[in-house]
Amino acid sequence: MIPFNAPPVVGTEKDYLQSAIESGKLCGDGAFTRRCQQWMEQRFNVRKVLLTPSCTASLEMAALLIDIQPGDEVIVPSYTFVSTANAFALRGARLVFVDIRPDTMNIDERKIEAAITEKTRAIVPVHYAGVACEMDTIMRIANAHKLWVIEDAAQGVMSTYKGRALGTIGHIGCFSFHETKNYTAGGEGGATLVNDAELVARAEIIREKGTNRSQFFRGQVDKYTWRDLGSSFLMSDLQAAYLWAQLEAADTINRQRLTLWQTYYDALLPLMQKGRIELPTLPAECNHNAHMFYIKLRDEADRERLIAWLKEAEILAVFHYIPLHSSPAGQQYGYFHGKDDYTTRESERLLRLPLFYNLAPVNQRTVINSLVSYLA
Ligand SMILES: *Cc1c(COP(=O)(O)O)cnc(C)c1O
Repeated sequence: MIPFNAPPVVGTEKDYLQSAIESGKLCGDGAFTRRCQQWMEQRFNVRKVLLTPSCTASLEMAALLIDIQPGDEVIVPSYTFVSTANAFALRGARLVFVDIRPDTMNIDERKIEAAITEKTRAIVPVHYAGVACEMDTIMRIANAHKLWVIEDAAQGVMSTYKGRALGTIGHIGCFSFHETKNYTAGGEGGATLVNDAELVARAEIIREKGTNRSQFFRGQVDKYTWRDLGSSFLMSDLQAAYLWAQLEAADTINRQRLTLWQTYYDALLPLMQKGRIELPTLPAECNHNAHMFYIKLRDEADRERLIAWLKEAEILAVFHYIPLHSSPAGQQYGYFHGKDDYTTRESERLLRLPLFYNLAPVNQRTVINSLVSYLA
């Protein structure tokens, strides 16, 4: 069976896990956490990076950090993972779903402004497949209306927009190190990127259960107390040790994924030229990280037949997302603004192919051959 995904393993994880165990300190903010955070701060040019248990936790931190209150409105795409919306609904926000662009599957920046009301507080662009949203336009709209921008860069680690790392363009960025993403912290993990200097101190407090314990550990205060709302948003240093192995190999992992992505693209290009399928679009200003390779079939029935065909060949290909505005909770906590031109239609015909760091080229060849025999 060729799986859809396997967690990335580069080989040095065991050594770093061993050394974390021997260090005698496994809780959050240990030596590996500091190493990972500093590496990302330098590499991506971020004010402050804080490792968290998940991208979901980072999004929840972001909602606390920008003080989302009941009745506030937050603009999100409907075509995204639940956490993008859930984090704000948890604070009582009403979600305003905006349509996507069919070329990148990202929120359509031209449809955002019409969805803004006096209650709007934030825009949450999701960089689907590690391909950037049109951030210049989104930041311009946000500045004009004094809104926060929280980038859901769960899929965008190591991608750039006009040379800037995804997650570093809005006020706050959120990374995922889940095992289905490009880099993992041993299965689960995330990071909050704080780009707005004024948010850094409070971000540390919210992450430390609402206390100023981080300042205490740095010797800046002589005792720590409860200061604010917060939760336990720290990653175990054991997980950070796993992540450190992956970050050290970040360029190798990225190159390998890009090679696999390009191999799919080149092999399937003739089928796009014949009009049989559609392939992903990469805007010129975006450098992507090959987080995902997807194709678009004619319709849902075509997709179902292909999934069954691949399954017959022992290949797992999957689709996502059921648009949030058509889900029970999405209907309860939000509404779709304007017309759903693309969200539902495009989501029904998109299929993701196996793409992961340890995917053997011979297995990728099997996937391609099976696809071509169906599509031809
Ligand atoms: C994976 C993902 C998340 C959630 O990440 P976790 O680390 O699993 O919490 C959020 N948003 C998007 C767009 C994702 O792809």
